[in-house]
Amino acid sequence: MEKVEDRFTLKIRGLGHGSHSIDIAVPSESLDLPMFHGKITAKGQITVGESLLLSLRLEATGSFICDRCGCDFERTFRPEIQLLYVPPQLATSLNEDDDVHVFDTQTNEIDFTEDIRDAVMLAIPMKNLHSPDCKPLIAGEEKGILDDRLSALGGLYAKLREEEMNSEGTGSVSQG
Ligand SMILES: [Zn+2]
Repeated sequence: MEKVEDRFTLKIRGLGHGSHSIDIAVPSESLDLPMFHGKITAKGQITVGESLLLSLRLEATGSFICDRCGCDFERTFRPEIQLLYVPPQLATSLNEDDDVHVFDTQTNEIDFTEDIRDAVMLAIPMKNLHSPDCKPLIAGEEKGILDDRLSALGGLYAKLREEEMNSEGTGSVSQG
């Protein structure tokens, strides 16, 4: 059963060893993900042992503006994440990073809201296109023109620098 909550949390106290299914939904507004709408869902499982391993498949739908043609479009992202929670006694042999957390074995629940939020944000590509087929009208040429301009600028800059150096040199000589 899907649970709709304000945050992505899981009660771990009393959870027996082995795998348990996870199915949680949180409204995107609660996650401060303004470009997304509807519910963000996380489905998968938690494997309980000495450590806790969460394997989750997320689903998040948002409204975006195509980075190439500027049209509005809807896109659903389905990133997968794995989070490992280790007890303090095991933490020393592991470096805590983005996907590894230390948890207090006395705690009632874990909260992985921020992990979900980060994963959803990271799922948005640098170039978010309304379709993989969305191409600029002058494919390839645009880049060529830009590169030519940049290299021309680079050459001009070098030339100006050179002239500046020379004129400074001349200036000091005439003053002295
Ligand atoms: Zn487009």
